[in-house]
Amino acid sequence: MSLFQHGSRDPRMYAVVKSRREPGADIRTVDKPTVGKGEVLVETKFTSICGTDVHIWDWNHWAEKRLKRLPIIFGHEFCGQVVEVGKGVKSVEVGDMVSAETHIVDGTCYQCRTGRMHICRDMKILGVDTDGVFAEYVKLPELNARKLPKGLDPRLGSLLEPLGNATFTVLPHDCEDDIKGKNVVVSGCGPIGLMAIPVLQVLGAKKIIALELKSEKVRFALAKDLGADLVLDAAINHGKLAEAVRQATEGNGADVALEMSGAAQALRHIFEMLTPGGRVSILGLYNDPVTLDINNLITFKSATVYGITGRRMFQTWDQMHRFLRKEEFRAKLSSIITHTLPIRDIAEGMHLIRTKQAAKVSLKPEW
Ligand SMILES: [Zn+2]
Ligand SMILES: [Zn+2]
Repeated sequence: MSLFQHGSRDPRMYAVVKSRREPGADIRTVDKPTVGKGEVLVETKFTSICGTDVHIWDWNHWAEKRLKRLPIIFGHEFCGQVVEVGKGVKSVEVGDMVSAETHIVDGTCYQCRTGRMHICRDMKILGVDTDGVFAEYVKLPELNARKLPKGLDPRLGSLLEPLGNATFTVLPHDCEDDIKGKNVVVSGCGPIGLMAIPVLQVLGAKKIIALELKSEKVRFALAKDLGADLVLDAAINHGKLAEAVRQATEGNGADVALEMSGAAQALRHIFEMLTPGGRVSILGLYNDPVTLDINNLITFKSATVYGITGRRMFQTWDQMHRFLRKEEFRAKLSSIITHTLPIRDIAEGMHLIRTKQAAKVSLKPEW
């Protein structure tokens, strides 16, 4: 229970605010956002912590370069209830449960005009460029407030942004049949890699081979629990890894490989594991430029490579809604949430992720 009850008419609210260019953040009261034309006000019901939030909290090199505007309320993974709509809003109403598409687009650039809004040239990111969701209320453009399937557990509702990353990495084009009967390697079992496992199962993948360091105990065990057919220790010799993948795939290698680890070595290895004519999706981000034997690993293999950012707006959201209808899918997704804390303990949540004790940490709006 919070000490103070803030009603929806109260002009102040609690928020986690990053105000200094140094590690940490403060929980304090700030002015509640006011909605303008085409915007909605949402009361947060659940939020979850993303790797990006840990970077912002810790104030690493990326955060120092990327965050322009301080103070800022950060956080972007959430689920909440619409409490107010601005003029002209048509697609959502007061009472709707929504999650956020975190890419805030201009709607007018070349990419937006040609059906590729997720790579808008004038994109702002919720909780990075604009005030985010670690607050009692958040303001969103109507387009970014995505209605949730009726009756969805709000804790799961807070996972749709990373689930959308996983879904888009699996389905870089819209052909869902593309996974049916295919052998798929998932490299890196952080929350998004883990989420890819049930997505691949729903889509009928033949074999799912997950790669993760065995020393990452929580992730490694979860990949097994989620039902990956094979979970390999990414630390073993890469010749042995490739051999294990070949053996599991009747000597062929992977049809599809998803790189979610952000480790340069892992990127090279998955190309080696790929069957000629296979495809790779890259979601992982690398600290430095990566060298790759393009002749042998891409050209002569006739491999297709997709760079993945965000979610397809909004086909990915429709795909997730379909997956979420399946009870087993929801159960697996919720098992990726290893910890649920009141948001006033957000520092502990950051610590649990930083020290690899948690997969996903979910935060209740208890200030
Ligand atoms: Zn995220
Ligand atoms: Zn645009």
